[in-house]
Amino acid sequence: MRQTSSILSTWLIIILFFVLLFTLYNQQNKKYDDKGKDASIPTQLHPIVEEHKNKLVKEAENIGIELIITETIRSYDEQNALYEQGRTTEGNIVTHAQGGESYHNYGLAIDYALSDQDGNLIWDLNYDGNGNGDSDWFEVADIAKDLGFEWGGDWEKFQDYPHLQMTFGLSIRDLQNGLRPKTEQGVEEVDN
Ligand SMILES: [Zn+2]
Repeated sequence: MRQTSSILSTWLIIILFFVLLFTLYNQQNKKYDDKGKDASIPTQLHPIVEEHKNKLVKEAENIGIELIITETIRSYDEQNALYEQGRTTEGNIVTHAQGGESYHNYGLAIDYALSDQDGNLIWDLNYDGNGNGDSDWFEVADIAKDLGFEWGGDWEKFQDYPHLQMTFGLSIRDLQNGLRPKTEQGVEEVDN
């Protein structure tokens, strides 16, 4: 009987040890912090998104595409005003997200457009300014995806062609609950 209980407690210690190890490992690899319900709302782009935005502009430039970033972080108020567009105010509906429901509100999304040589904005998906036979817009989307962005043009329900976001595995619900991506972490990039 005494032997059985000592074997049991040995096992218990071993199991507890692995649970502890697993917890520590998870803590280290967690890509987000839980800031709780009262978490502050970011006021600028997440540094990793900022860095990859700049890379995107540079890489597009390298293949003769001039890119304009038309939107970065958007406050809740700005988001709500945008939501009203096409509903209670003039214009077309451009978003289905209200304040707090867009990755823009957390500094995790950007929008882009193209520019011609005179600096005029171009929203034409077929525009081929660098003359290589491919749509500049889609070329930019491909570069962005290689950099780890999710592209709104790939969405099934509501295609948002100018939109790029990095979610870090967090849903809007997670962000509303105060989870925030860590400011330093490895973003998976596709090498090519
Ligand atoms: Zn957007």
